[in-house]
Amino acid sequence: MWEHRVWRDPVIAAALSCRYCLGSGEVAHVDDAARAVVTVACPVCSTCTA
Ligand SMILES: [Zn+2]
Repeated sequence: MWEHRVWRDPVIAAALSCRYCLGSGEVAHVDDAARAVVTVACPVCSTCTA
């Protein structure tokens, strides 16, 4: 799986502003209780760019 190597490569990961949300700053999260998809602030960006 070459894609797996890409994500594990620190150089490639650094090229993307954030590999968790891909730089969008927000991620979709499924709220089981509400049975809906909500958008929340990326926990990675919010901690590393604050
Ligand atoms: Zn992020």
